[in-house]
Amino acid sequence: MSNTSSKTAVLIPGDGIGPEVTAAVKRVLEKAGSDINWVEHKAGIAALDAGKEVLPEETTDAILEHGVALKGPCTTPVGKGFSSVNVQLRKKLSLYAAVRPVRSLPGVKTRFDNVDLVIIRENTEGLYSGVENEVTPGVVMSMKVATEKGCTRIADYAFDYCQKRERKKVTAFHKANIMKLTDGLFLKCAQKVHEEKYQDVPYDSLIIDAACMRLVQDPSKFDMLLMENLYGDVVSDLCAGLVGGLGVVPGANIGTDHAVFEAVHGSAPDIAGKGVANPLALLMSAVMMLNHLADTCGCTNSSETAEKIKHGYNTALADGCKTGDLGGDLSTEQFADAVIERLNG
Ligand code: ATP
Repeated sequence: MSNTSSKTAVLIPGDGIGPEVTAAVKRVLEKAGSDINWVEHKAGIAALDAGKEVLPEETTDAILEHGVALKGPCTTPVGKGFSSVNVQLRKKLSLYAAVRPVRSLPGVKTRFDNVDLVIIRENTEGLYSGVENEVTPGVVMSMKVATEKGCTRIADYAFDYCQKRERKKVTAFHKANIMKLTDGLFLKCAQKVHEEKYQDVPYDSLIIDAACMRLVQDPSKFDMLLMENLYGDVVSDLCAGLVGGLGVVPGANIGTDHAVFEAVHGSAPDIAGKGVANPLALLMSAVMMLNHLADTCGCTNSSETAEKIKHGYNTALADGCKTGDLGGDLSTEQFADAVIERLNG
């Protein structure tokens, strides 16, 4: 990991609800005693408004230099001419693994109270390769790409994560009965990696449509979910719905040398600028970033800060402090205040 020992991290506020939630999260981290130095860079609509590219080179360069970033959501304008900031960033920095923990939270009542899942989504291939063309007027095509290298490294990441963190099982979701070559390769690579390196890790696979049905019937039957890009995008939102919605699910995009931490949610234009967005998903992503810094650069301040913040938000939720998406009436800043008040037990 390049230069993380300096504890400088890139902050990308993004657009939509991004600036509101990043400001709240930055404040919580500071109050919790984080010694991270932030360098701020633009992406998405905020970059376009400043007359820059949708993903300015200086933003990517800053992540290359400092190794880690906390990123707010970035809108990709619909239509021709703009490729997604998220897709570009993940490809340019080779952030091949999206890690999305989905857990039931204290005080957040949902249909299930025992959800504890980790989604591992391949982040650089599949239908998100952005290779689309018009074959003839009225006929368009999108290419789904799977490589042995990409499928093998994401499977390896998932099994390694399961083994090191003593999780229970990895289940690969696929549609290899129809997409025999692409999903077939994904499945074959997972099986091979399992047989060669991780026979002690329980592993199974399921066809994705049946898997989704079982997931919403009883999520406790699952533990870690491994899947390609598009399925991972869709299943992440489905799983968010099991624990209270998009306001409470964090994420990390991990590569060999760099990592970008961001919530699963997008820029939520319907509530942008109103000060009502839930900052928790980004706050939890920041906790993942702090733990990552503790693991990769041995920063003890980072793990202490992470523990304080976790205590702060778990207690705040248990005390009934919630934003509107969770049925409460706190604003973004009021929820941040509630966490800050509870940082020290
Ligand atoms: P994208 O296509 O960028 O992934 P999306 O389709 O997943 O975005 P989001 O922008 O993430 O859509 O949000 C969907 C809806 O969920 C929003 O319109 C908003 O009502 C709600 N939502 C998302 N994030 C939050 C949040 N942090 N706090 C409150 N509500 C949220």
